Amino acid sequence: MKKYLEKLPKEIQDLIHLASDIAAKNKMPAYLVGGFVRDLILGAKNLDLDIVVEGDGIRFAEHFAASLGVKLIRHRRFGTATIVIKSNLKIDIASARKEFYPQPACLPEVAKGRLKDDLSRRDFTINAMAISITPRDFGRFIDSFGGKGDLRNKRIRILHDLSFIDDPTRILRAIRFEKRYNFRIDSDTLGFLKKAVKLKILESVQPQRLRDELILILKEERPIKQIRRIHQLLGFNFIALELSVSKRTYKLLRAIEKQIKWFRQEYPQRRPLDTWLIYFMGLIENLAINHVQAICKRFVFRKGEEKRILAHKKIGSKLIHRLSRAKVNPSIIFSLLEPLSYEIIILIKAKSENRNIQRRIKDFFEIYNGMRPYISGDDLSGLGIAPGPYYQKIFSEVLNAKLNGRIRTKQEELALIKKLVRT
Ligand code: ATP
Repeated sequence: MKKYLEKLPKEIQDLIHLASDIAAKNKMPAYLVGGFVRDLILGAKNLDLDIVVEGDGIRFAEHFAASLGVKLIRHRRFGTATIVIKSNLKIDIASARKEFYPQPACLPEVAKGRLKDDLSRRDFTINAMAISITPRDFGRFIDSFGGKGDLRNKRIRILHDLSFIDDPTRILRAIRFEKRYNFRIDSDTLGFLKKAVKLKILESVQPQRLRDELILILKEERPIKQIRRIHQLLGFNFIALELSVSKRTYKLLRAIEKQIKWFRQEYPQRRPLDTWLIYFMGLIENLAINHVQAICKRFVFRKGEEKRILAHKKIGSKLIHRLSRAKVNPSIIFSLLEPLSYEIIILIKAKSENRNIQRRIKDFFEIYNGMRPYISGDDLSGLGIAPGPYYQKIFSEVLNAKLNGRIRTKQEELALIKKLVRT
């Protein structure tokens, strides 16, 4: 595997060699594992280094972080740690472990183990390969389950017959990897998957774990393929019994995809979108608000996520109605859209084909978003206006005049204020 490792960017190679030194110094055999190895062989970019050590993973990670002079996030319960090098480059370090499933679909019991045990607990053969980075056998490839052959044959295969029963979230994971890489779920694996679905095994999984896997799916580059496959293999009862996904839903999802692409192309410098949230809102578009509230509660979304999901449900239609009118002043467009998150605005743009709405949202992003008056509180007190609630009124009058093109410069703002004060 050395030749694969040598093709990596220098920065990653240096990190691997540093891990190798730490493995030698601390007498802890270390391995690259999981998605990193899979993507290395596929030639796909992956900047999440996954390292398993035979020994104390947290102690290994402490040495690693100290050598780099960076912070470490410890997850003591799992014997794992994460080192974030920069926003798009991180290293997960874990102690090799064995897992037992005392009951299907529950979290496993965990004990210290060897690499072999750690690979045996994994989801699919393509995620169960390892490369030693311990100096004495640096580059040795460990592939006990035939993962490399499955990569060649574009196949998603579980490691044992009860895999989906032990952990039903693997059903969603199988679909995610199948569609991401354009692979096929192997026919035996597909049989076990269907059996597990028939047993309604997903119902016994903790909802937050389903949520996490669903979010990962919706974060994929083109999640509609995955959504279709979920539709075909298991349906959407795991989100809500009332959820029905129709042709109209797919039309909306396609429109969302188009609008996300538009936004990224036009405004690459803006805050990146939480695209998964837009797809999620699109997916549950047909549900009544009480059902949406129930999903938010069951899935325990973060406050900010729940707020956006419910805000759209509450005001989405009214907003579309108001934005589609023949005449709408820029100050009104601003007052309607400025308080909303970009995710809701993109969803509204995707939902409506109305030309006025399309143009107004574009104008919002291009001209009005973030607009403020030039004048400040100091300017107002300089004009002899005593601080108080009146300031807010003046600011908003000035801003509206500016949005509606009645004034442009700071001088014009000051002139308007003087006029307002006089009246
Ligand atoms: P991605 O490219 O999406 O990050 P990944 O393979 O790195 O893919 P993670 O969800 O980060 O995916 O998981 C890391 C590794 O942990 C996987 O490659 C797999 O070996 C293992 N893993 C994750 N979830 C499970 C699971 N539910 N059951 C068994 N193994 C799992």
